[in-house]
Amino acid sequence: MKRRRGLEAAVVVATMALVAGRVLWQAAEARRVPCPQGYSENAGREERALVLLSRDPEGREAVRNASGVRGRMCFGRTEVPAVTVERTLILRRDAGDAETAARVAHLFLHLSGGFAPVDGFDAHAPCDAQVATALHAEADALDLELRLRQRLHVDAPVLRFEVQAAWDAATNGAAREQLLYDFLVAHPHGGGGVDGLADAYAQRCAEFARASR
Ligand SMILES: [Zn+2]
Repeated sequence: MKRRRGLEAAVVVATMALVAGRVLWQAAEARRVPCPQGYSENAGREERALVLLSRDPEGREAVRNASGVRGRMCFGRTEVPAVTVERTLILRRDAGDAETAARVAHLFLHLSGGFAPVDGFDAHAPCDAQVATALHAEADALDLELRLRQRLHVDAPVLRFEVQAAWDAATNGAAREQLLYDFLVAHPHGGGGVDGLADAYAQRCAEFARASR
């Protein structure tokens, strides 16, 4: 059942991606598209997450960098929170404020760092390299999320990562990022707390290449 909900969320994101790909996302206006059906904004939750991030140097930086380039925060029954190509943040209604804050920082990183799954893949460059770059960015964002969870004392998250124990045991930042990357590569179809990103990115990149022919 849990797995099913994750897949539904992935479908939401994939569908929105396709629509946006067709209309060639129009910058500022599209950024404030309404929440998808079944999702809604929650000013109190949003505010609490941003306040928590404002108390942490890396959280503050993530918020600052996403200023002006992020869409709405929409809460609902997703399992794995994500960001759409319309820059809307899809978040879990049942997650606590600190867990939400850590995820928001992760998603903000995708919106401010030049991230092909959101900004679009280069139709004329090899997909393998582009997907690897995107997965490294993903590992980077997950690493930030886990650091923030630690500092914000998220002890009982509703979304658990299978790599948590290995991440806790890793001795330095480079080792942590590498194990997150390896985990994403080892789970192309998702599982263990992540969506099937390797698979989804490869498909999306191939769509861009096909569309340009
Ligand atoms: Zn991510």
